[in-house]
Amino acid sequence: MPATRFGLCDQCVHQQLVTSGRGSVFSLCRLGVGDPDWPKYPRMPVLRCPRFEHEPPPEGGDAERPAG
Ligand code: SF4
Repeated sequence: MPATRFGLCDQCVHQQLVTSGRGSVFSLCRLGVGDPDWPKYPRMPVLRCPRFEHEPPPEGGDAERPAG
């Protein structure tokens, strides 16, 4: 997946990248599809979000672990 600049959404299970006919990439929040009180296209970059859920590490990859 190419690197994007959508902040926290880039690591969130609820993000879906949408490419327009002109090739622009948008970050869709899937929670907004079923929840009228939640934005489908939040203002970017998202720096904090109460509904953020970290996506799982890719299978077979080296998962990054926090230092400590
Ligand atoms: S839940 Fe929050 S962090 Fe996750 S995709 Fe939606 S807006 Fe972004």
